[in-house]
Order: sequence, then C-alpha cells, then structure tokens
Amino acid sequence: MATKERVLSGMRPTGKLHLGNYLGALENWVKMQDGYDCFFFVADWHALTDRDDTEDVPTNTVEMVADWLGAGLDPERSTLFIQSLVPEHAELHLIFSMITPVTWLERVPTYKERIEQQGIVSPSYGLLGYPLLQSADILMYKAKWVPVGIDQVPHVELTREVARRFNSAFRPVFPEPDAKLTEIPKVPGTDGRKMSKSYDNAIFLSDTAEQIRKKVRPMMTDPARKRRTDPGNPDVCPVFDLHEIFTPPADREYCATGCRTAAIGCLDCKDVLLKHMLPPLEAIRERRQAFAEKPDLIVDVLHQGSRRARVAAQATMEEVRAAVHLAP
Ligand code: SF4
Repeated sequence: MATKERVLSGMRPTGKLHLGNYLGALENWVKMQDGYDCFFFVADWHALTDRDDTEDVPTNTVEMVADWLGAGLDPERSTLFIQSLVPEHAELHLIFSMITPVTWLERVPTYKERIEQQGIVSPSYGLLGYPLLQSADILMYKAKWVPVGIDQVPHVELTREVARRFNSAFRPVFPEPDAKLTEIPKVPGTDGRKMSKSYDNAIFLSDTAEQIRKKVRPMMTDPARKRRTDPGNPDVCPVFDLHEIFTPPADREYCATGCRTAAIGCLDCKDVLLKHMLPPLEAIRERRQAFAEKPDLIVDVLHQGSRRARVAAQATMEEVRAAVHLAP
C-alpha cells in the first residue's frame, strides 16, 4: 500500500471553537483524515507569543480538543499532540534561527501587520520568530501539505526557503512542503461582522439548539428591510451567508425569492435556516459534550499522540544533529 502523504496543522489553544473556526479549518482537517497521514497539534508555545496570563491554557486546550473530537478528529487515524510535549520543536527552531536572516522574518506580512495594528514599539524575539517556530513545526514531520488560509501562505513560503537553506548549507534533510489552500466560506457573526470571539457574536460548537436559536432569531439582516412588507436583498444579508453554508438549494431559493418579494418575513427565513443548521451542529455538540465530560480522556489522547509525534520528531532530530555535526 502506498504511503499516505503527510499533513500538518495546528491551532492555538483559545478555548471553545466557534462556527468560523470549524468551517474555516476544522471541518477540512476532519475530511483530510481519510486521504492523508495527519498530524494536528495544540500550538501552546505559540500561545505564549503575546500573552503572559497563560493560566487558562490547560482548560482552553481541553475545551478546544473536545471540539476537535466532537467534530470527528479520530486519534486512531490522526496524531493529535501538544507542541510543548515535543521539545524537539524548540531545538529545531534554535538551529533554524542560526541560518535564517533576520530580514526574512521582518518581511513576513503578519509580523508587520501585528506591529503596526497593535502599535508594538519593542517587539519580542518570539514575535519575530513566530513563523520560524512554525517552520520547525512543519519541517519536523517532513509534512508534504500544510492546510492554510490565504494569509498564512507567506509562512509556508518562508518554510520552503528555510528548508532549502538548511539542505544546501548541510545536507538534504527536509522536503519542501506545499500550502493546501483551504477555501474559507464567509461566516458572519450574529451582528453581521466576521464571527469572532472578541466581537461577542459567535455561535459555538458547544452551544445547545436553544442557545443557537436565541442567537440566530435576533440576528442582523439586510438593514434596508425595516418592515415585513419591505422587499429585502439576500446578497447583503448575513443570515443568507449562513443559508449558503447550511441550506440545500431548493429551500435557499425559496428564501431568496421570498425575501426579494417580501413574501416571507425574516423570522420565517431564519426558521428555515435553523431547520437545516441545527441537526448537524447538534450531532457535533452531543459528541463534544461526551468528551468534555471526560477531560482525563482528552488529556490521555493528547499524551499518547505526543508520544507518537515525539518518535517522528526524534528521528528527524537525529538526522539534523548529524547533518550539523553535533552528534559525536
Ligand atoms: S428574509 Fe432572510 S435573507 Fe432576506 S433580509 Fe430577512 S433574513 Fe435576510
């Protein structure tokens, strides 16, 4: 049987995941398990980049991984692990830092954006080196594919450059990975802005049907449709963006036409959406709830996965140490 190509991706432990996280990444991870050798990790060192209050990292890890498991990640088929339980990542990051020009890191767009947007006067080395630690995460497992959104593509590009630089400076150890672009659907929050925990507009995978109903029914719609008798425009309505994700074509068309002709009201339209979005989300919630009630099991899954990941990481580091002539 042909060996499956390897995929690597990670998430920072930010706690419970919302619909945007699911549709933008996790759903795709679950699908990839069928065709690839998948390594998915909790990026807890990355979580230290911009925070010093990290008390909630363990709880957030358990909550997030409950969502992973509820959505269908299967620890039998995928290696689920915690970055800091595989300390070889830090060693590889250090070695890469010796061969990576600072200018390569300074030109990474996400670094420049963070500094400008947050007005950071004295950025830490960790912030500058964030994408290089990502390169170590990826190259450690010789991953062929890295599923990313468009904004993360420069990080994969940097990883390819680092691999080339190492291979030509020492000896060929690392294959160059490719970005697997994840199509991220538009997932609006309940106020019409992008769904985000910080905007307090998110629908969580852990929300019950009742909680989701309470969030969707008052949800923002086409602002021009003030009265029930006003025709609306589904193209500018965040509720309709959710229809695009959850509602089958016939019912979606019914809502679009009903909206444009004022034949249906916004609450009718939202009820159609709820009819289609609640069953799949309820299935995820029930599964994630069963895991969340057994946090020890989640910790166990992550420890077992980390041991498995570490075997692969140690094999790579033996090659690396020999290549850079550290191993006597
Ligand atoms: S009828 Fe539906 S698509 Fe039209 S404005 Fe209301 S919620 Fe939006």
